[in-house]
Amino acid sequence: MASESVAADRDDSEAEVDTESAVETARRQLHRAAAHLDIDPAIVERLKHPTKVQEVTVPIERDDGSVEVFTGYRAQHDSVRGPHKGGLRYHPEVTRDECVGLGMWMTWKCAVMDIPFGGAKGGIAVDPKRLSPSEKERLTRRFAEEIRDSIGPNRDIPAPDMGTDPQTMAWLMDAYSMQEGETVPGVVTGKPPAVGGSHGRDEAPGRSVAIVTREAVEYYEMDLSTTTVAIQGYGSVGANAARLLDDWGATVVAVSDVNGAIYDPDGLDTHSIPSHDEVPEAVTRQSVPHTITNEELLELDVDVLVPAALGNVLTAENAADVRADLVVEGANGPTTSAADEIFADRSLPVIPDILANAGGVTVSYFEWLQDINRRSWSRERVNDELESEMLAAWRDVRDAFDERGIRWRDAAYTVALERIAAAHEARGLWP
Ligand code: NAD
Repeated sequence: MASESVAADRDDSEAEVDTESAVETARRQLHRAAAHLDIDPAIVERLKHPTKVQEVTVPIERDDGSVEVFTGYRAQHDSVRGPHKGGLRYHPEVTRDECVGLGMWMTWKCAVMDIPFGGAKGGIAVDPKRLSPSEKERLTRRFAEEIRDSIGPNRDIPAPDMGTDPQTMAWLMDAYSMQEGETVPGVVTGKPPAVGGSHGRDEAPGRSVAIVTREAVEYYEMDLSTTTVAIQGYGSVGANAARLLDDWGATVVAVSDVNGAIYDPDGLDTHSIPSHDEVPEAVTRQSVPHTITNEELLELDVDVLVPAALGNVLTAENAADVRADLVVEGANGPTTSAADEIFADRSLPVIPDILANAGGVTVSYFEWLQDINRRSWSRERVNDELESEMLAAWRDVRDAFDERGIRWRDAAYTVALERIAAAHEARGLWP
C-alpha cells in the first residue's frame, strides 16, 4: 500500500515520518521529485490535490433480510495523460484520505511506465470476510451504480486490490454493462479471462520484479548465475519472482510466508515450494536445512533482498543490519523513510516499488487494449510486451539515476513527474 509507501525527505522525526498518511507520503515524494526538475510550481500545486473525490453510501440487504449501510469512495487524482486507473479495495480501514494518497501514487506509477493512464483509487469501508458471496455481489453492484457516472473505459478503470478479486471485477463490469445497455469489458481490468481478462495478469507483478532484479544485477556488474536472492513473501509477487529468477540462473536461498522462512545456502527448488495461491502458508512445511524467522531472512548475507509480502518491513530498527547488496521492492512500500535514509547513507541501492512491481498495472493496460480492440493476446505476446515495457522503463529510470546522481526512488519519481508536467504544460489550464 502506498500508505506504507515511503519517500526519503526527512525534516520530521523518524517516528512522525514512519506514521505519515498516504497523502503525506505522496505529496512529499512529489516535492522531492520536483526539487530535481524545472517545473512550473503551479503544476506541482495542482498535483498536490485530487481532481475529484466521490463519497457514496452503499446500502445492501443482508442475507437475513436486514439492511446495512456502508461508505464507499472513489478518488481520481490526475488524468492529464489518459483515463484514471487504480484498484478498488474492500477493507475496514478504507478512508477518503487513503484513497486520495493511493490514487496519487497510481499517477506516478502509470507515468513511470509511460502508460497513458492517470491515478485513481477507491474502496468500501467493509470487512469482506463478514460478507457472504451474494452479499458481496450486492455490495459491488450497488457501488458500481453509485459511481457509474465517474467510471468507464475512457474515464476511470478500476481493478482488484485488497479484499476484491477477478469475480468482483466481473460483477462490476456486468452491473455497469447492464445499465449502459452494452457489454463494456474495458470498464475494469483484472477480470476473469472468460469476460475479457488478460493472460499473464496474475503473474505480471512478480515477472516485473524478476526483470528489474535481473537488470539491476547486471547494472551493478554482478552475474545472475552467481547471485543469491532472499525473498520475503511467497504469494503472487514473491513466488512468481522467485521462480523466474531461479529459472534464469539465480540461486534463491531463502523464501518465507507469514509463518516464517526457509533457508538453504545451496539454493531452494522454488517450483516445488507451493505459492500462497497453490497451498496457503505451506512454505515452512518444506523439508529444507534451515528454518529461520522473517526478521532473520531480511538480514541474510545475500546479494539481493526482495521484500514481497507487506509494507514497512525495512525500518530504522533493522536497516543497519540488512546485509544484502541490493534491495528490490516487490511489495508496496516495504521500506520506511527512516530506513531509506539509512540505506542511502550506506550507499545500498533500493529499486523502488513503483518501477519494480509495475508489471501488474502494465498488463492491466494490455487487458484494456485487448478489451477495446475486442481481440485477446496470447500469453507469449503479453510476456513479450511486458518485457519490452519493463526494459524501456528501467532504461529511463537508470538514465535519470546516472545523469542526476540521485537515489533510485527519486530517479523513478523524476521520470514520472517530468512526463506528467510536460502533459500539463502542453494542455494548459482549462478554461
Ligand atoms: P499474496 O496474498 O499473494 O501473498 C502474500 C505473501 O506474504 C504470502 O506468502 C503470505 O504468507 C506472506 N505474508 C503475509 N504476512 C506476512 C508477514 N507478516 N511476514 C512475512 N510474510 C507475510 O500477496 P501479493 O499479491 O503477492 O502481494 C504482496 C505485496 O505486493 C503487497 O504489498 C501488495 O500490495 C504488493 N503488490 C501486489 C500486486 C498484485 O497484483 N498481486 C501488484 C503490485 C504490488
